[in-house]
Amino acid sequence: PQLERLCIHESVANKIPKDGFAEAFSDLDVPVEIVGDDEEFDRTDAVASFRPRDSFLDAGWVHCIRAGYDEFDTDAYADAGVPLTNSTGIHDTTVGEIAVGYMVSLARMLHIYRDHQTENDWYEPPYERPFTVENERLCVVGLGTLGQGIAERADALGMDVVGVRRSDEPVPGVSEIYHPDDLHEAIADARFVAIAVPHTPKTEGMFSTPEFETMRDDAFLINVARGPIADEDDLIAALENGDIAGAGLDVFETEPLPEDNPLWDFEEVIISPHRGSATNRYHLDIADLVKEIFHQYQAGEDLRNRVA
Ligand code: NAD
Repeated sequence: PQLERLCIHESVANKIPKDGFAEAFSDLDVPVEIVGDDEEFDRTDAVASFRPRDSFLDAGWVHCIRAGYDEFDTDAYADAGVPLTNSTGIHDTTVGEIAVGYMVSLARMLHIYRDHQTENDWYEPPYERPFTVENERLCVVGLGTLGQGIAERADALGMDVVGVRRSDEPVPGVSEIYHPDDLHEAIADARFVAIAVPHTPKTEGMFSTPEFETMRDDAFLINVARGPIADEDDLIAALENGDIAGAGLDVFETEPLPEDNPLWDFEEVIISPHRGSATNRYHLDIADLVKEIFHQYQAGEDLRNRVA
């Protein structure tokens, strides 16, 4: 059946203003409603949501507004015959800029100057500490939307960008591609390692003590993907032992990051609150994607970003 209604689950408010998001669909030819947990669905309903709910399995099509759909049970969607789509493909600029921002700050010490600024302290760093990102090696692990967005921007800054991906197909701005089996070889010489893979059983704990020991002592880890991909206890130990020099982290095993988590206290760790994709037009980027898939559904075409 054709879709006759677009339901926006209130959990979208985790990332975007729900009213502004609903208004972005004013040119859609079906009614748009913001719904809560007590809503019932049938096959003529489309649902866009941040969080999964069992009741969505009664709908005609469900869109996860996130790129990472690891909270959604893809097998249940496949069994119910309900297409599930995600928001991959729109975060190259937003998350790419955040990742590059971390790297430039970690190299040029903006985070340290800002720390001292809160004390009105004219802090002059050790001569050896600052460096330019230009000519430094970055290894991007995962070369999808995020990974390519990071690689392209790092290349524009003159960094020496290598990457890890399952296929050896070349990627613009990436000088060398390593297979995931050769992860250690890929990260061993890098000054920065950026994680850009999805959270799956294969990638959980992909970065643990052996990887941190393989990385250079003066290397920085950037994680803008998902917390559990880098084992948090091992990361804290690596920072304490000096196995790596620091990190830029947007994602954590537990979010919000608990107040007593040791990661807060490292001078060389920059923490952002899982807002790597946040801009004042994020809701419009997602709405454009949802509209595109909506029209594909109505036309009986293959759905972009279908994950189940
Ligand atoms: P994407 O699907 O475009 O890219 C993921 C890439 O990782 C794909 O190329 C895939 O082939 C590759 N990959 C998967 N497993 C791999 C492995 N074991 N080794 C090497 N490569 C592997 O997705 P995306 O839009 O780039 O997003 C990636 C992840 O980043 C999402 O799943 C999500 O968890 C996270 N994310 C975070 C934010 C944020 O706000 N911080 C925003 C968007 C996405």
